[in-house]
Amino acid sequence: VMIRTKSERSWIEISLDHFVHNLRELQRFMPEKASFMQIVKADAYGHGAVEIAREAIQQGAAMLGVANADEGKLLRLQGIQVPILILSPSLMEEIPIILKYDLTPTIGNLPFGQILGRVAREKGKILPFHVNVDTGMGRSGIRYEEAEALIRELILVQGINFDGLFTHYAASESDPEYSAYQLSQFKKLLAKIPEHPPWIHIANSAGVVNCPDDVSNLSRLGLLSYGIYTDPSLCEKVNLKPVMTFKSRVSSVNRVKKGESVGYNRTYIAPKEISYAIVPVGYADGYDYLLSNKGTLLIHDSPCPVIGKISMDMTAVDISSVPKEVRPGDEVIVFGDEHTKVRVESLCRSYHGSPYELLCQTGRRARRFYF
Ligand code: PLP
Repeated sequence: VMIRTKSERSWIEISLDHFVHNLRELQRFMPEKASFMQIVKADAYGHGAVEIAREAIQQGAAMLGVANADEGKLLRLQGIQVPILILSPSLMEEIPIILKYDLTPTIGNLPFGQILGRVAREKGKILPFHVNVDTGMGRSGIRYEEAEALIRELILVQGINFDGLFTHYAASESDPEYSAYQLSQFKKLLAKIPEHPPWIHIANSAGVVNCPDDVSNLSRLGLLSYGIYTDPSLCEKVNLKPVMTFKSRVSSVNRVKKGESVGYNRTYIAPKEISYAIVPVGYADGYDYLLSNKGTLLIHDSPCPVIGKISMDMTAVDISSVPKEVRPGDEVIVFGDEHTKVRVESLCRSYHGSPYELLCQTGRRARRFYF
């Protein structure tokens, strides 16, 4: 693929083909009639919420998942019309935006539901809502024991409509036993509530692969749809292609002699004379500071170790083992390629970082190109 990057120092390539491939892979694990919700919070984990939402809708997404009302508003302003669920508990202050842009809040307490219902009635609207039951995630959501009572009260409130019930796995990528326990709690609740809403959803993307269930009709697809394995064990089950590739180009080539240092605080001392390249990507671009002396970049298909501390706008890499001459302007793969050394998963293992975090840190400076 030829991408015009005339003036860009660093840029992000987003492969919508890979995204579609990953969605198809994940769909193999879903029941035929099940739908999916594309998770596009945090600007679709740094991939661009609007572009990803549009592609996901084309591929059949029934719903989009965001973190707050503003993220939902942004999608509506771009003309996106499918239901948008705010996954985490909303604040009273968000109610005007929720109403104006027809967003679906997750309600965790009765007063919020009552106020929402009253405001909706005043506007002549009936607003859908979901309830998140905490079956063991230990984060947001109504506790399992209190959920039935809350649901019974919320369904009596005028102006709001019970549209969905969900729970969230704490470790679907790595702990099938605990996930099975969470699922059984959720099923017990389903048996107790007086009416089932149209949407029942449980699994995140790793849950789709690892924890199939016979009660949900919607899955919430995040990281795996972006082509990242959240656990090495998933590699045997599902074939994912990274959607994001972060690229840059060499801005200068330098040399240090044995005993000389590279970068702030002199954390790298050359063991022998080496040549190194400066790549114009730093922690302000989302290249994590903790990758200092740990990361690996790819130049001419050769892995080049990061030397010294990562600066705000620059990173130094050892190029002594690159077989070809490295020159200013040469393309660099910073991360995200399928090459094992620069796959997001291995990079994150090298500094005990989170792939979720690495991806969603990227949106600040580098421009995204879609193909
Ligand atoms: N569902 C909820 C409630 C979430 O908070 C998230 C993201 O953290 C997801 C689904 C998507 O999870 P994943 O990216 O692991 O697929």
